[in-house]
Amino acid sequence: MRRCPLCLKLDTQLFHQDKKRSFHHCATCGMVFADGATHLPPQAIRQRYGRGGTQDNQRQLSPFLLSLLEQITSLHGTEVRGLNYGRVLDTESHWQLNSAGHELSQYDPFTAPDPEALQSQYDFICCFRVFEHFAAPHREWQLFNRLLKAGGFLAISTRMLTNPSRFDKWHHKNNPAHVSFPCRETFEYLAADSGFRLIFAENDFILMQKPSGSDIKRDPNSCPAL
Ligand SMILES: [Zn+2]
Repeated sequence: MRRCPLCLKLDTQLFHQDKKRSFHHCATCGMVFADGATHLPPQAIRQRYGRGGTQDNQRQLSPFLLSLLEQITSLHGTEVRGLNYGRVLDTESHWQLNSAGHELSQYDPFTAPDPEALQSQYDFICCFRVFEHFAAPHREWQLFNRLLKAGGFLAISTRMLTNPSRFDKWHHKNNPAHVSFPCRETFEYLAADSGFRLIFAENDFILMQKPSGSDIKRDPNSCPAL
């Protein structure tokens, strides 16, 4: 039995086995995860950066962030300070965002390991197509919890597992750098466990809000249509 790398419970069982890896399912948070013994070493993950699929993700990051910034700014009603975690913007796109008056810090463990970025608190955190790479997502969840201001938003883009019975046919799980496969239930669990508000969790987009001091509830129908 493996310990779930997200909720840390031992309520797991073997879910799928292929030629290279075994995958386990956590009954507590619903996440499927690859056996830690088969994770790629950090150097191999670093070398995978810049390949085809990653380049596609990179191209989509800038429009995703721009749309997110507009939505969060409209919800927040004022200028916002954000953290882009795990996949950094190219220099020109980052400059354009800053020129538009947005304050965006960035952190990537491989290409931008800036410890200063993890010492502030933010109105929102963007985590674009990197959750699947988290070997120990419990750590990232704790980090996001610490870095978000009260009332702050967490926006995650990741492929969610929607059809467990077809996991063996799911192309997404074949990338050896993909190790964590959450589903909607996973984010419902995280929200309930941490007191976050789950605003949206569909179509591979998840938006959550850390409770504010006054714990003002927002209309779930006002979610960003990203
Ligand atoms: Zn779990």
